[in-house]
Amino acid sequence: MRAVESYVQGSWTGTADGVTVNHAVSGDPIATISSAGVDFAATAAYARAVGGPALRELTFHDRAGMLRALGKHLLADTAALYELSTATGATRSDSWVDIEGGAGVLMAYSGVGRREMPNAKVVVDGEPVSLSRDGSFLGAHIIGPRPGVAVHINAFNFPCWGMLEKLAPTFLAGMPMIVKPGSQTAYLTELMVRSIIDSGILPEGSVQLISGSAGDLLDHLGPQDAVAFTGSADTARMLRTHPTIIENSVRFNAEADSLNAAILGESAVPGSSEFDLFIAEVVKEMTTKAGQKCTAIRRVIVPSTVAADVEDAIAARLAGVRVGDPADPETDMGALASLDQRDEVRRSVAALSAVTSVILDRCEFHDVDPARGAFLAPTLLRAGDNRAEAIHSIEAFGPVTTLVSYGGTADAIEVAALGQGSLVASVFTPDDSEAAELALGIAAHHGRVHVVDEACGATSTGHGSPMPQLVHGGPGRAGGGEELGGVRSVHHYMQRTAIQGSPDKITAITGTWTNGSRRTDNGHPFTLHFEELQIGDAITTESRTITIDDIEAFAELTGDFFYAHMDEEAAKASPIFNGRVAHGYLVLSIAAGLFVWAPPGPVLANTGLDNLRFAAPSYPGDELTVHLTAKEKSLRAGSGYGEVRWDAQVVNQRGETAATYELLTMVACRPQGDPA
Ligand code: NAP
Repeated sequence: MRAVESYVQGSWTGTADGVTVNHAVSGDPIATISSAGVDFAATAAYARAVGGPALRELTFHDRAGMLRALGKHLLADTAALYELSTATGATRSDSWVDIEGGAGVLMAYSGVGRREMPNAKVVVDGEPVSLSRDGSFLGAHIIGPRPGVAVHINAFNFPCWGMLEKLAPTFLAGMPMIVKPGSQTAYLTELMVRSIIDSGILPEGSVQLISGSAGDLLDHLGPQDAVAFTGSADTARMLRTHPTIIENSVRFNAEADSLNAAILGESAVPGSSEFDLFIAEVVKEMTTKAGQKCTAIRRVIVPSTVAADVEDAIAARLAGVRVGDPADPETDMGALASLDQRDEVRRSVAALSAVTSVILDRCEFHDVDPARGAFLAPTLLRAGDNRAEAIHSIEAFGPVTTLVSYGGTADAIEVAALGQGSLVASVFTPDDSEAAELALGIAAHHGRVHVVDEACGATSTGHGSPMPQLVHGGPGRAGGGEELGGVRSVHHYMQRTAIQGSPDKITAITGTWTNGSRRTDNGHPFTLHFEELQIGDAITTESRTITIDDIEAFAELTGDFFYAHMDEEAAKASPIFNGRVAHGYLVLSIAAGLFVWAPPGPVLANTGLDNLRFAAPSYPGDELTVHLTAKEKSLRAGSGYGEVRWDAQVVNQRGETAATYELLTMVACRPQGDPA
């Protein structure tokens, strides 16, 4: 029997003398797992000394490119992963979520890195604020890399996705990681890590794997390190109170179990599309991954008036679910991950039986021996009292859900909140006000609220699917943590620091031109190629006087005859203007005419404006001048150009600011071989 190995300090290591792991379907032993022999202190030190510096050499865009390459690499050859995945009890579609869904998270984070982060090593967080009357002392925030190691402790249920959804933001942040999967299914994680290491795409030391116990790893963590845990609430509680975690304020994020709810609105009556969508979603959540999802619906909260209809509809649909061999494409629901898990779920159902009655707990098992494999029939329970503590606290981590009745929207909200904090709740209703009342009523108790009506029934990504773009996590029992959510989770692995100083120092430190700091005249900045252009390169333009003819011509050209531009009396009567004013877009157009460099040159295109404000009206006779300053540069590697953000300030002869905005341009790099 093979030993599941660890990858630490640049090599694979393992011992045959480990805990036996069994095949979920046949019950036969398939591997042993043990981390005996791993030097945990040296593993953490290796990440900090080898992986960390290699990652911090790279920009966010470099790392985003590697995530994309890795995603493609994993998607190119999934056959062995799918084959092994059936040993965890997963059907083909369960495995798709785990394997291809996991690779999809890498691709999504590659996009986040390239589109939402600069091609730099530090993020500037928001605009600087003035801390002195004359603007000579400012404060800004930067988010920079931490020279520590991230330890990822994962649950057994998604051996691939569970690793990759943490790997992507951590890697993008520039932090090396040690992955410790749930032991029961770590053989699948190991196979994927082998593929990752063999690809050579990620710098050595950025990913290490511990198969088996985490040993004394947590004892060796320091103030720059982080732990991201996924698993049961009990283990989360134990780990977050680990003396070293407390002593060194090690950043700790927990994604724990929760009693997620699906609420059927009172207006989603039987026969409505929302009623049918609700029934289908409950059954899907019970049977996908045999209910072993942290997000699965555990409490089905329905109006008492239709509880019987819901029972009948769910039972009827469950009757069509084929349970059996996950390798058979006809199978809808496979096995639990292990016999231990099955026994654990049985114990939870037994505990729930004190306050529930059974609606359904039998099924036919196709082509498998349920006495040997970890099979369990979908189990539908009915709660007698909707306030019974057990239904809101016992998580049966399998194909088990409890029907809970409510009387009125306020009651539904209270019942959902009894879960003490959950990852997700779904609301099914055709009625907008009912949706708003339920969603806002339960929002504080949930990390995600998934609202379904007929309009999105076919396009919803589903109750149980955390999306890379949206936060995943929840308050209270759900762990109080947050993962995913696009760029938000990248920041979890970085340090936000407030920087105070003069405008020039803030510009130098952030690499972003700050209002009040030096502006340099190096000729017209639009004549400079991307490499030549420096932050702070600026132009102050000639002036141009706005005339009434300009305003009328602009109105004719655009069709914008708004009274404030065309009717002196009406404009005067308005509480804002003293008479006819120039169109804001005329001011912008005049500004462009003032600063543009007309002949072909390095500036390829204007791609937009950000943060536009018309700060003061511009009247006929006003003389406009533009101060244009290179604010931020971001190279698009390999494309031959970079993006340049310009600070634009349009001022009048009274010294007032007429408009401020940021102009976005694409600026060409110097042609290859051009020495200029
Ligand atoms: P678990 O027993 O809490 O284990 C989770 C992880 O913690 C495993 O890798 C486990 O390793 C490790 N672990 C246990 N004791 C440890 C210790 N003293 N020091 C370091 N690591 C330790 O949970 P599970 O049974 O694997 O997973 C099922 C639970 O996870 C369910 O309750 C489910 O709701 C929850 N879950 C939550 C999410 C979420 O995103 N919120 C996602 C998936 C699952 P070993 O396997 O080696 O014991």
